[in-house]
Amino acid sequence: MPETVLVSACLVGLCSRYDGQCRADSRILDFFTSRGLVPIPVCPEQYGGLSTPRPRTWFTLGDGRKVLDGCGDLLSDNGEKMNGAFIRGALETLKTAQMTGCKTALLKERSPSCGVHHVYLEERIVPGCGVTTALLREKGFKVFNEEELEKLIECLNK
Ligand code: SF4
Repeated sequence: MPETVLVSACLVGLCSRYDGQCRADSRILDFFTSRGLVPIPVCPEQYGGLSTPRPRTWFTLGDGRKVLDGCGDLLSDNGEKMNGAFIRGALETLKTAQMTGCKTALLKERSPSCGVHHVYLEERIVPGCGVTTALLREKGFKVFNEEELEKLIECLNK
């Protein structure tokens, strides 16, 4: 049975970003193909019921972990509190990961949903993770960003 890996949809060419664009990275598709891995594309923000394009969102307090703990905040460009939609999206992403047998994820750095090591706190890039990354980690998934392909391979080989 080929190994499945959850991946941010925008990294594999799906136009799911807030601005309606993608961040297609040919290295990533080549990586999956050359190693016989099956990518499972997800966009937590679309799963959370948000439209594409949509207003940009960033943390105004804490990060994804804090939002899950009820002590962080996400605000959209038009001033709307977004915690509910982002948590919904994270839960739906978790369901997808579980039903497709993923144990690892390759997610887009700095996104308020998918960020792995850094996110935006208002205009600043700070250490922290997105809401989906926080939930996946809590449930035991190993999460890597798009620059950590070698680390992902090491993890899959263990
Ligand atoms: S939520 Fe994740 S998958 Fe969706 S556009 Fe943002 S970074 Fe890409």
